Amino acid sequence: QKFVYDFTEGNRDLKDLLGGKGANLAEMTNLGLPVPPGFTITTEACKVYLDSGDAPKELRDEVSAHLDALEAKMGKKLGQADDPLLVSVRSGAKFSMPGMMDTVLNIGLSDKSVTGLAKQAGGDERFAWDSYRRLIQMFGKTVLGVDGELFEDALEEAKTAKKVKVDTDLEAADLKRLVKKFKKIVSDACGRDFPQDPREQMDLAINAVFDSWNTDRAKLYRRQERIPGDLGTAVNVCSMVFGNLGPDSGTGVAFTRDPASGHQGVYGDYLQNAQGEDVVAGIRNTVPLADLESLDKKSYDQLMQIMETLETHYKDLCDIEFTIERGQLWMLQTRVGKRTAGAAFRIATQLVDQGLIDEAEALQRVNGAQLAQLMFPRFDDEAKTQLLGRGIAASPGAAVGKAVFDSYTAVKWSRSGEKVILIRRETNPDDLDGMIAAEGILTSRGGKTSHAAVVARGMGKTCVCGAEEIEVDTKRRRLTVGSTVVEEGDVVSIDGSSGKVYLGEVPVVPSPVVEYFEGRMHAGADDADELVEAVHRIMAYADRRRRLRVRANADNAEDALRARRFGAQGIGLCRTEHMFLGERREMVEKLILADTDDEREDALKSLLPLQKKDFIELFEAMDGLPVTVRLLDPPLHEFLPDITELSVRVALAESRKDANENDLRLLQAVHRLHEQNPMLGLRGVRLGLVIPGLFTMQIRAIAEAAAARKNAKGDPRAEIMIPLVGSVQELEFVREEAETVIAEVEAAHGIDLKLALGTMIELPRAAITAGQIAEAAEFFSFGTNDLTQTVWGFSRDDVEASFFTAYLEKGIFGVSPFETIDRDGVGALVKQAVEAGRRTRPDLKLGVCGEHGGDPESVHFFHEVGLDYVSCSPFRIPVARLEAGRAAA
Ligand code: PEP
Ligand code: MG
Repeated sequence: QKFVYDFTEGNRDLKDLLGGKGANLAEMTNLGLPVPPGFTITTEACKVYLDSGDAPKELRDEVSAHLDALEAKMGKKLGQADDPLLVSVRSGAKFSMPGMMDTVLNIGLSDKSVTGLAKQAGGDERFAWDSYRRLIQMFGKTVLGVDGELFEDALEEAKTAKKVKVDTDLEAADLKRLVKKFKKIVSDACGRDFPQDPREQMDLAINAVFDSWNTDRAKLYRRQERIPGDLGTAVNVCSMVFGNLGPDSGTGVAFTRDPASGHQGVYGDYLQNAQGEDVVAGIRNTVPLADLESLDKKSYDQLMQIMETLETHYKDLCDIEFTIERGQLWMLQTRVGKRTAGAAFRIATQLVDQGLIDEAEALQRVNGAQLAQLMFPRFDDEAKTQLLGRGIAASPGAAVGKAVFDSYTAVKWSRSGEKVILIRRETNPDDLDGMIAAEGILTSRGGKTSHAAVVARGMGKTCVCGAEEIEVDTKRRRLTVGSTVVEEGDVVSIDGSSGKVYLGEVPVVPSPVVEYFEGRMHAGADDADELVEAVHRIMAYADRRRRLRVRANADNAEDALRARRFGAQGIGLCRTEHMFLGERREMVEKLILADTDDEREDALKSLLPLQKKDFIELFEAMDGLPVTVRLLDPPLHEFLPDITELSVRVALAESRKDANENDLRLLQAVHRLHEQNPMLGLRGVRLGLVIPGLFTMQIRAIAEAAAARKNAKGDPRAEIMIPLVGSVQELEFVREEAETVIAEVEAAHGIDLKLALGTMIELPRAAITAGQIAEAAEFFSFGTNDLTQTVWGFSRDDVEASFFTAYLEKGIFGVSPFETIDRDGVGALVKQAVEAGRRTRPDLKLGVCGEHGGDPESVHFFHEVGLDYVSCSPFRIPVARLEAGRAAA
């Protein structure tokens, strides 16, 4: 096994092994682009280190061999006294984790080689000593674990002593003194001197990068982004180039397209006379990349050329980090760039138009989560607002919340249910918890590529950065703009699409994408925006390819009509219990309390016409499309009053000696029906078998509604679904009754209603005996909510609030199984039931109607196991259509 790859040996397909950065540095090297030579230590080496606490024993020799080759190529040795080769040691995992792991620059500098570096830099002593103090500072903090504040404080002291404001005003002699101070800080803090041996520096830095995979902030970021915890990071050892050698040097970041809009053009930031981290950290304000043209035309032109090469090569938006050392351009990094949801859709269709990718590939460039994000509301342009300031539109969205000025408060307040906006001068990786907790992020410094912007875009969180007229005072927990003061707790609104910041709550309006799905905005129309055009096209690509049909979970005509506008091809679940709320609850109460058959018949008779009317409306809304009506499912006691309240009422009445007969009966019934585990109790088909006439009333209502629609020349396609079936015998009982009722209604109207009867598969026993159950069912609909509950033994109503956080933290699962289908457990049962069901009945229709039907990842699973349709809430329908298309592409 090989643990080290030269940049000339790798390529972009080796991201698992070389990490994203290493794989792309290799790719650029092989494209002939100017990349400083170097090598990559694999993620496999990192895994060995993390598992055993030690690097693999072959690593040292392999590193030596690659270092020798690098030294030969560069014509100098690492840390050589008169002309040192310096290297950077950088982390780089398979998935980008911006700023979460460690990097050390200027490895190879020592008391001896610092003078050699000065000589090589044309006698620039200041540069050499500044590079050395940066090394000690970075190395001290990240490798040796010294408190970073100690270095910061010493730097501040040096500036105060010299009466200057910025680092660049410190001269060589000041920096030399500072190096001495820094070395003392290190030896005081660690009980050892700063290592002078360049190879020791390098080896320690490599281990520190391995270790940084498991820092708290890296773990938190991975959980948030659903990046597996066992991938490890690669380590890139790269010869140093310097952007801080004077005005003809500098460093910058660039995008081949605008990551916010997708438009082609020159996008990026440049900082003259600076080293890499200065840009991303947002410490000094940068100039727009376009200004580089006047500063250094040759490098600018070369950069434009390289950007075009990269875009054509990667066939996608790329982001780039580069450095110019005395007029020579160097590429330090590239990757397929993060982008906003809207830009993802636009870029995908633009690339199709440019002939760079085909429709199937375009579908892989977007996802359902992005589409869901585009469906969020936006601020109302017409609303009266008080503008506080304006920054850079870094990550779109409309966020409203109470101003907080530190991460801790953001987390605390959001836990108690408050919506907060995290406001910082600039963010750093320590702010991650707060950023996750906040509705949106506002900073007063830094550009589109600052930490806040990059991380927020990655999380899909609203962000405005670099709002310079806003003065953030974190100590006093407030911000000021001119004479306006915003204190902690005051409400602010930030618009990540325009960069505007408002005082108070700005009302929101629906997004144009929802307007489009609603049919209130049309692609191709004059007022349709580019985004709507792009969404329209991508949806067409998806619809053309998908095999899964998409239905809606809807219980009333209004939801059904919306679902239809959103592209639903039927209703997969109408939960009839929602039809028994409000004033009808009393009728159900009467049904439950009925002592005699007559009383029960009366109650059922009063419910029948109401149910029939519900179904007529629903069948009309969904005319020509299938509508699966599920018979009553919840525990009966849900229709009765609360046991404690009622007991108190009855006790009080009894003490006054005026207890009423009805309340007493009610209380008895409540006691009789009370269950310790209602979710495992008298619900679903069990109700139908225990309360005579209940299911037949519902079936009659469905049949009569269908007959009425037929008589009105409609095209009703009703399907009757029985919930919570565990054995085929249960289903057979209901089927027999159903067939009698349906035959009666058909005979009365002289028509064939073609009503299908099927069942939910939501209990393990149903899944396991699916072959038998299919004998009595024309269709299955997987109820993955209950199936997840019963397979795991997790109460669906309780566990997410109780121990799921601990489970997620421990990595027992990466995401709640109620959100994304658990492929190995619940999914395996679904697959088994699909196969067994189809063996019994080859034309068995199969769908899913649990929450998973609208979850992107789960939709792919349902495609794979061969379901016919997924059913989800109306607002998820576009997402399900898109993901079904992506699964098939
Ligand atoms: C299910 O259990 O997945 C389901 C759709 O039914 P309900 O959520 O109504 O229990
Ligand atoms: Mg269920």
